[in-house]
Amino acid sequence: MLMQWTYGLRRKKMSSMFSDVLKRLKPYTPGEQLNDKRYIKLNTNENPYPPSDKVLEAIKDNTDASLRLYPDPVCKELVSALAKKHSVSEDMVFVSNGSDELLAFSFNAFFAEREVAFPKITYSFYPVYCKLYNVKEISIEMKDDYTIDKQAMSECKYPLIIANPNAPTGELLSDGYICSLLEKDKDKLILVDEAYMDFADQKSMSEYVKRYKNLLVVRTFSKSYCLAGMRIGYAIGDIALINALNTIKNCFNSYPLDRLAQISALTAINDQEYYDYINNKVKVTRDRTALELEALGCVVLPSKSNFLFVKFPRFDSYTIYTKFKDFGILIRQWNYIPDYVRISVGTDSDMDTLINGAKEIMRQ
Ligand code: PMP
Repeated sequence: MLMQWTYGLRRKKMSSMFSDVLKRLKPYTPGEQLNDKRYIKLNTNENPYPPSDKVLEAIKDNTDASLRLYPDPVCKELVSALAKKHSVSEDMVFVSNGSDELLAFSFNAFFAEREVAFPKITYSFYPVYCKLYNVKEISIEMKDDYTIDKQAMSECKYPLIIANPNAPTGELLSDGYICSLLEKDKDKLILVDEAYMDFADQKSMSEYVKRYKNLLVVRTFSKSYCLAGMRIGYAIGDIALINALNTIKNCFNSYPLDRLAQISALTAINDQEYYDYINNKVKVTRDRTALELEALGCVVLPSKSNFLFVKFPRFDSYTIYTKFKDFGILIRQWNYIPDYVRISVGTDSDMDTLINGAKEIMRQ
């Protein structure tokens, strides 16, 4: 009792050292990173396949004495390759330490001390950045079936963030619909987070950045390029938007991408055939797993991503999560989503184990 009281007193005294910003924060909770081989890891949407051999070789070849030197702060070669990939000029490309960092920079550059809107069920880092950068969060309610309320989004007058495909639901909005939003108010920024776009059969919104100066497209190497461990994200947008991001970056960290990250991303872009092949496999595995789960009585939202948003009969999301964990499979669950869980698409063998687990759970 006395110990508790003195601990409380010490915390109270110490709190004078902490900023008001810190006090209002609610950090993001990432999916468990239990690198315990007993588990099949289907909880953080990593690609189940390895980076290409060429990427692994490039990392090995560049692991040498040059690491004592700082990396290129402007990532010239990588930026140039990305510009070519997306048919834009180099000054329309920005690279970052994972797209999470890019999102943080975007919040700071465009939304800080202002408002931003996004669907209620979407990437749960957005509300975290709202607190960090003192942004008023405007939440667009989902429809009852967890789809995006397109009408409400069209009527929204605030800057928007759209994860497309949406996470964790997997829903894909058409480029035509997003263009209609961009047309409505050309002074209103729309940030489209395409972390999972390479798993959808739709072109990237990067095709429209020359037409719409109010469009910023954010992408990552973590999912479709199997490089979550390297932390590489990038944005495509009008020069003015990219300049704004560079201003924030240069007030934060001059060298966000290390040497090995830069070389691995560059090599990956030049080995596109491999990535098309494995990502196609992920899509095929996703679609047949969805059918198998539905045959077991689950509700599975149509997904154009590398994960499935699934409701199991009889059990709430937390119970399902713990039952799969007991079975040796990690999936993702949020307490504010009581009925659905998110399951990343693994290899065919991972998904066979998942289906067997689901059958066993349903027998209980
Ligand atoms: N956007 C969305 C929608 C995501 O799900 C993720 C992954 N958690 C990210 C961005 C961040 O990805 P990364 O920082 O690995 O590029």
